[in-house]
Amino acid sequence: MAHAIQVDLHLDTPTQIFKKKIGLDSLRGLEAGLPQLKAGGTNIAMMVLWPPLKSDHLKRTMDLLRVMEKEIQRLDEVVLIHNPDEARNAVKGSKIGIMLSLEGAHGLGHENWKQVLEILHKKGLSAIGITWSFSNRFAGSSADEGGGLTQVGFELVRECFRRGIIMDVSHASRETTLQICSQSPVPVIASHSDAYSIKAHHRNLRDEEIRCIAETGGVIGLNFHAPFIGKDADIKLVADHADYISKIGGHRSVALGSDFDGFIKKPRGLEDAGKLKALWDELRSRGWSKEQIKGIQGENFLRAWKKVLDGSEDKKKF
Ligand SMILES: [Zn+2]
Repeated sequence: MAHAIQVDLHLDTPTQIFKKKIGLDSLRGLEAGLPQLKAGGTNIAMMVLWPPLKSDHLKRTMDLLRVMEKEIQRLDEVVLIHNPDEARNAVKGSKIGIMLSLEGAHGLGHENWKQVLEILHKKGLSAIGITWSFSNRFAGSSADEGGGLTQVGFELVRECFRRGIIMDVSHASRETTLQICSQSPVPVIASHSDAYSIKAHHRNLRDEEIRCIAETGGVIGLNFHAPFIGKDADIKLVADHADYISKIGGHRSVALGSDFDGFIKKPRGLEDAGKLKALWDELRSRGWSKEQIKGIQGENFLRAWKKVLDGSEDKKKF
């Protein structure tokens, strides 16, 4: 189909182009550069600003933002998008829509996080992962079992809801995830996590977390990192996670968040973003309907995103 939406909720490509000093259109060195995205049909790409633990967090966030701004300006084929309508328009115009996300609220720096959030939002930030692989002053991470939301964490979540910024609980502790989802007035996403019942890894979601995210109207992006997928990871095992998440949360809760360019160990058959068609074929062979596949490809996420943005002024309930 000509203008089918295909969203990937987690691409670490900004880090690769920053470190390797290459372009988003580079023919080499990327798993989810323009050539691979086009080959695999991804036309909405959540590009992640990720400050590693050992970095000046705020500076790295801003460096990665600048890298992406430069690429968006330089390349006619890509456009920064801020809402589902812009996503659809980008795709209609045969462009690739870029969304920006911050992976870990530590990226807001040590000083005035509200001001930094405001700046990033103005620059087009659409989503925030509340933690990365360590607990921060806002919330506990799954990696160190750092508990739930702190006082300032509650404030951050409230501020994101007010602004219509998507809350992302991938990497968050179970406590944090359940706290946010059970009280959220809008959909919450886990941009790049799999099912704990299939592979018991702290980065994956327990059934109660899947259920809680689904109940907000949110989605879970399938992550392709082999240690999260399971032993001898291949397309079939990735599809098992999709089947399982849909069984617990419903088909409408499944999305894609590959983690390409995030130093992942790839499953057999899904070596880069150009290979995604094989996954849709696998799901089709398992009885997923056309509508359900369109859902996982992007419609589920766009529906959730619209709800996050709609009436975000009244999100004072949290
Ligand atoms: Zn991650």
